[in-house]
Amino acid sequence: MRIALIAHDGKKAELVSFVLQHKDLFGDADLFTTATTGKHMEQAGLEVNRVLSGPMGGDAQIASMVATNQLDVVIFFRDPLGKHPHEPDVQMLMRICDVHNVPLATNFGAAMLILKGLKCDG
Ligand code: PGA
Repeated sequence: MRIALIAHDGKKAELVSFVLQHKDLFGDADLFTTATTGKHMEQAGLEVNRVLSGPMGGDAQIASMVATNQLDVVIFFRDPLGKHPHEPDVQMLMRICDVHNVPLATNFGAAMLILKGLKCDG
């Protein structure tokens, strides 16, 4: 399972704690993150593959991986209350997930449901 993990600054702690709580599943997966999200993951002891930071094109890189069938799931904890200079890239990533039918969770509740689905799948 190849999973992208991204979080806006206001949601990074929540994403790290979510991943740590489900280490059984995430520990077996190949994890791909934007740069700063990845740093937080590494500080928490997780092994990840980092692309560029979101504002520098990292979300676009993740979208490109989705488009070329290199990712199975995208978990992107967005901060709906913040302003983001790279919002066009974020929109593009979400559109590309829809184009290629790749499951995308943009909040904790949706991520939980995807995780449950993955666990049922074995
Ligand atoms: P970051 O990028 O992990 O480098 O902060 C995430 C984003 O804001 O898209």
